[in-house]
Amino acid sequence: MERHLATCRRCRAELAELAPLPGLLGRLDAAEVRSQALTPGPDLLARTLAAVRAAQAAEHRRLRRWRVGAAAAAAAALVATAAAVVPAVLPDVTTPAVPFTVAAAGARRRGRAAWSPAAGARPCASS
Ligand SMILES: [Zn+2]
Repeated sequence: MERHLATCRRCRAELAELAPLPGLLGRLDAAEVRSQALTPGPDLLARTLAAVRAAQAAEHRRLRRWRVGAAAAAAAALVATAAAVVPAVLPDVTTPAVPFTVAAAGARRRGRAAWSPAAGARPCASS
């Protein structure tokens, strides 16, 4: 084995990675090792898979939160851009003269009395 290690760089690297392991294993308490936490049972695979799935779910939730946040930021940026661009592109619809004239003309065309703001009141049928 030592002769092989002298010629094989990959195995030397692998061995170097394992070098701290005996020290770590030496620190383990034998009673602790025999306790349920470290004893591989028939459900070891199930427990390991459950832990992996839990970690994946946590990561998924983290990414989801990030995506929702990014979408909200994008929407806010879109609204801000629209607020800045739309008034510059569209005619000023807040000017009251244009919509009122259109509404009055439409009312006249339909044969109804057009409400005149100058008269100050709605037309009253009873008086
Ligand atoms: Zn080797």
